[in-house]
Amino acid sequence: SSVRCLGKERTLAMIKPDGVSGNYTEEIKRIVVEAGFDIVEERLTQLDKETASAFYDEHSSRSFFPDLVSYMTSGPVLVMVLEKRDAVSDWRGLIGPTDAQKAKISHPHSIRALCGKDSQRNCVHGSDSTSSAEREIKFFFNDVVSDDIASQHDEL
Ligand code: ADP
Ligand code: MG
Repeated sequence: SSVRCLGKERTLAMIKPDGVSGNYTEEIKRIVVEAGFDIVEERLTQLDKETASAFYDEHSSRSFFPDLVSYMTSGPVLVMVLEKRDAVSDWRGLIGPTDAQKAKISHPHSIRALCGKDSQRNCVHGSDSTSSAEREIKFFFNDVVSDDIASQHDEL
């Protein structure tokens, strides 16, 4: 599958609009590499309403969904495929809890503590399971996305 190969695992990471506009991209990528992940794909893209809604379809009935879609379409995002052993759980561990305000207290060294603001604007995304990772990697990298700003496929 697109998630598992040679004992390694892949996950989808995203630097959300607040992370990109806040100039956290280089710092987050440094943390990623220092934690032992290989960045095997990356793409800077502007999500439109339809794409953001489809990506977060599991939350479509939640009261925060319209605000979530507005947030996710407010500027470019950097989507990355990260690879290492246990990539899915290790990346979730590195980003910390959903609510960045809580992350600052309970996980002060997490990425969401570093650059997130609250329960919505938490600066990064990570797949929550290997099945989510497979879906999300396909969502961004096996489909043709027409609104690319830039893409790199050097490392595969
Ligand atoms: P995670 O990104 O940690 O997997 P969820 O899947 O629960 O969290 O939610 C997806 C995204 O929706 C969150 O990262 C956050 O941007 C937003 N979100 C989640 N819960 C809330 C909330 N209670 N209020 C506002 N936005 C939220
Ligand atoms: Mg989630």
